[in-house]
Amino acid sequence: PAEGKTPLTEARIDLAAIRDNAARLRDAAGSAEVMAVVKADGYGHGMVPCARAALAGGATWIGVARMQEALILRASGISSRILAWLLAPGDDWTSALAEGIELSAGATWAVEAAAQAAQAAGRPGLLHLKIDTGLGRGGASSAHWPALVEAASRAQASGHVRVVGIWSHLAHADSPGHPACDRQVENFRDAVQLAHKAGLSPEVLHLANSAATLTLPHTHFDLVRPGLALFGLSPVPELAAPAALGLRPAMTLTARLVSVKRVPAGQGVSYGHRHRTSCETTLGLVPLGYADGVPRHASGTVPVLAAGRWRTVAGTVCMDQFVVDLDDGTAAVGDEVVLFGPGDHGEPGAEDWARAAGTISHEIVTRIGARVPRSYT
Ligand code: PLP
Repeated sequence: PAEGKTPLTEARIDLAAIRDNAARLRDAAGSAEVMAVVKADGYGHGMVPCARAALAGGATWIGVARMQEALILRASGISSRILAWLLAPGDDWTSALAEGIELSAGATWAVEAAAQAAQAAGRPGLLHLKIDTGLGRGGASSAHWPALVEAASRAQASGHVRVVGIWSHLAHADSPGHPACDRQVENFRDAVQLAHKAGLSPEVLHLANSAATLTLPHTHFDLVRPGLALFGLSPVPELAAPAALGLRPAMTLTARLVSVKRVPAGQGVSYGHRHRTSCETTLGLVPLGYADGVPRHASGTVPVLAAGRWRTVAGTVCMDQFVVDLDDGTAAVGDEVVLFGPGDHGEPGAEDWARAAGTISHEIVTRIGARVPRSYT
């Protein structure tokens, strides 16, 4: 914002919180290292500053989905180990290898792409072989794992790739005690054993996301990959709030009221009049809408802190704005409304938004749009 101007909307990011959350996760990880997962623009918080804060807190790796994200991190001067895992043949494999970015390979085509790029880059491809231990998403299924391992051994023997890791992802980490987690750990161990038999000796095995980092120590192996918890949000919101896990939410989403007006009882509010005032009241207009990531699903259900206490979003969330019913509250145009934050001033948390909108807090923070300026402290 220009000097002296207060932004209409703002996502304030507390980088010290991210640093401290990384330190907390490092503690929880025991002897395993921490990969800070900062894909999707650092879950909406800003990828590069969050990566730096996480490294300052003791993370030693950065994880992203796309190769382009990894290249941006390197170009921004981040020199730690970086892994990118959601790749396609048309990606810039040569630049990634030249920049020392480590890549996931969940199928033989990826091993071949890395081997080919290695010759152009003049550096071997550092690969993390991905086994699908049960999530049913990316990675080699157990039927294809032997062929992937064999292709990787051959490429390693020719000097074009080095298999540095084996990894997988859990389906039920957020349901502690779910038997599928143990089955996935067993499948993971079997896959690693098979790779050892084929002559591979990857030094980094990794499986755990935030929930597993905090609640399932037997999934830690050599490296854990927390994302959500790094940003201070609870990966098990029905069981524990962030503070109970030693985490501090890093994002506070605010906006300034752009209209405040008295309306009579019976006033229909917003598209479809899905809310109608029950008595004479004051309506405040908040300049954030679904284009900014406020879920339309939140219409009529989600709380915000406005005029001193929680008020529910009244009626339908629009593209750029939504209405809050301020009833007895006094408010003026320009007053700040807090949608969610760490709770220091009694505001809701991203988990409250997620619950009310029928989603997870990952989705709430990652969808905060580019139109909302981020500020950093
Ligand atoms: N690892 C992989 C492969 C992921 O896709 C993600 C995020 O979805 C994570 C780790 C981090 O997950 P979470 O944010 O739940 O910690």
